[in-house]
Amino acid sequence: MTTPQENGKPLQNRLALVTGASRGIGAETAIALAKAGAHVILTARTEGGLTDVEEQIHQAGGTASIAPLDLLNPDQIDGLAQHVAERWGKLDILVLNAGQLGTLSPLPHTPLKDWERVLAVNVTAPFRFLRAFDGLLRQSDKGRVIGLSSSVATSPRAYWGPYAASKAALETLLDSYAEEVANISPVRVAVINPGATRTNMRKAAYPGEDPQTLKTADVVAEALVNLLVQDFDTRQRLTVTAKA
Ligand code: NDP
Repeated sequence: MTTPQENGKPLQNRLALVTGASRGIGAETAIALAKAGAHVILTARTEGGLTDVEEQIHQAGGTASIAPLDLLNPDQIDGLAQHVAERWGKLDILVLNAGQLGTLSPLPHTPLKDWERVLAVNVTAPFRFLRAFDGLLRQSDKGRVIGLSSSVATSPRAYWGPYAASKAALETLLDSYAEEVANISPVRVAVINPGATRTNMRKAAYPGEDPQTLKTADVVAEALVNLLVQDFDTRQRLTVTAKA
């Protein structure tokens, strides 16, 4: 009998959930996880994007389920956790990838509603995911959480206030959770800074930039899946630096 490593499916029998899987880094991450053998639950608002990604996964011989949800609707996160509990009883891999940039502008000009939306999607939603899925991650023999952050979390930049503050908060939240679970469960946590990557978000931040000069999202996805396959036993931080 071949082992999951030998058959090229090192994540076989693993259940993964990826937020923001309708496009960009989340979509490529979901596809890469499925190629490695995981069953992947895809979440985002855009159902068409999710079904496209699901279709690509099926065509490559993988398996996936879609769960359209709006991270601004907290009940949907708790409802999804309930569904996963009933259907699978565990979660092996949680990728907290969904994010919003908000409007880049001088801080005094930033509308309060922009600040609230960025914080809700980038911080409050991951908090709700950790709270709702903690028990399911602990049911796994190797629960792993990966959060997507940014260099601005630690190197603030003018006009990027809400987004930078949200990523700093996300990193601290993940580090706190990592410390909490380290000694009492097999759950481990990593933070990945994908670096400049050719996606809609990057285009919104740098409209004048030639996207062809940037690495594609599959490069980030590959680094993320490699981290999971090689595995880690302590809090991890990874910056993806590969060029296009
Ligand atoms: P995109 O804008 O391309 O994708 C963002 C994803 O988040 C989409 O799938 C979107 O789905 C989802 N999302 C946004 N708002 C919501 C919401 N309210 N409810 C549910 N899903 C939502 O971004 P990237 O792929 O570029 O970014 C992925 C992660 O990487 C983010 O956390 C980002 O901050 C980080 N990052 C990216 C960098 C880059 O250069 N691209 C650099 C540094 C960090 P939908 O709209 O369908 O809901």
